[in-house]
Amino acid sequence: MQKIVNFIQTLYNTKEFIPLHEPKFIGNEKKYLNECIDSTFVSSVGKFVDRFEEEFAAYVGSKYAVAVVNGTAALHVSLRLAEVQEGDEVITQPLTFVATCNAISYCGAKSIFVDVDLDSMGMSPQSLENFLEKNCEIQDNQCINKATKKVIRACVPMHTFGHPCKIDEIQKICETWHITLVEDAAESLGSFYKNKHTGTFGKLGAFSFNGNKIITSGGGGVIVTDDEVLAKKAKHLTTTAKLPHDYEYIHDIVAYNYRMPNLNASLLVAQMEELEKFLASKRSLTEEYTNFFTQFDDINLIQEPHGTRSNYWLQAVLLKDKENRDALLHYTNENGVMTRPIWKLMSELEMFRDCQKTDLSNAEYLQERVVNLPSSVRL
Ligand SMILES: *Cc1c(COP(=O)(O)O)cnc(C)c1O
Repeated sequence: MQKIVNFIQTLYNTKEFIPLHEPKFIGNEKKYLNECIDSTFVSSVGKFVDRFEEEFAAYVGSKYAVAVVNGTAALHVSLRLAEVQEGDEVITQPLTFVATCNAISYCGAKSIFVDVDLDSMGMSPQSLENFLEKNCEIQDNQCINKATKKVIRACVPMHTFGHPCKIDEIQKICETWHITLVEDAAESLGSFYKNKHTGTFGKLGAFSFNGNKIITSGGGGVIVTDDEVLAKKAKHLTTTAKLPHDYEYIHDIVAYNYRMPNLNASLLVAQMEELEKFLASKRSLTEEYTNFFTQFDDINLIQEPHGTRSNYWLQAVLLKDKENRDALLHYTNENGVMTRPIWKLMSELEMFRDCQKTDLSNAEYLQERVVNLPSSVRL
């Protein structure tokens, strides 16, 4: 244990407290922020929002990007655009951050949990397909859950810690079953599945720029899509549904105030310029952690799944069992090195306990054994 703490201290060249993930502002952040402030366009409109949306769409290879206040809002609006409504059901994975399931609940829909794969820690296409074949049927081009008679409207896989899940297989299954695919790509900016960027396989994809993500605007999010109509609707729904007019306030539906302020976008344009540097730094960190952990038989650094390129947003190790995990968590946190267990399964949280679920053996296995290690970009 002491060896692990010492190693992480050498990685970060400090004996002080080492956080799990801290943001880095090393480029044009202050310059653009000042430009933004000087322009007085700090809020709802401004050139940085437009510029960010264009640059982001180009980077991930989607036709449109719509910037919003945070990743949760991006998911919420994506699900609304997927026409998820009161009484619907949405399939997702239990191993995720709570925002995924909260967004489903905001739409008045209920989550259904299918298992994850052990290698990617993301949704298992096999588990998804088994669930559908056993429990669902297609009526009028809709997927109906035979037990509840509800429509399964959407499916939301998540790319855990930046490791892409088997998204092309999931996409095919969703197509067969008339289910709209919405990707929670909050953690996977810079991650590719078979050379295609994560978040661009679904009808809609949602990203987050919270303070702990690979790039940040303090808070922020973005919705991506190739569908022009959906992109326009996304803008409309996130900007109080105000109709363009020189001076009148006319709004045609109940909508949200979810737009990203120009101030945040200015920070984000600068952060995008640093992304390649951040990705390279994370990859070199992975290499060093991987080499270091080869000396322990029962601790393995989780690697990007075959055929993918992960952003390695958060480094994660797999321990032998829960006792080993707890020992590592306890020792490192006691000694100034911040580590965290993977999330408690959504299916075990009070508000989602009564949601339908499949066998979740893999998610349960990972829940007891995965620990995140300090992953900040090193300069
Ligand atoms: C960070 C995160 C979100 C939500 O993002 P916020 O910007 O914090 O609202 C959603 N899903 C996952 C998996 C995340 O990690």
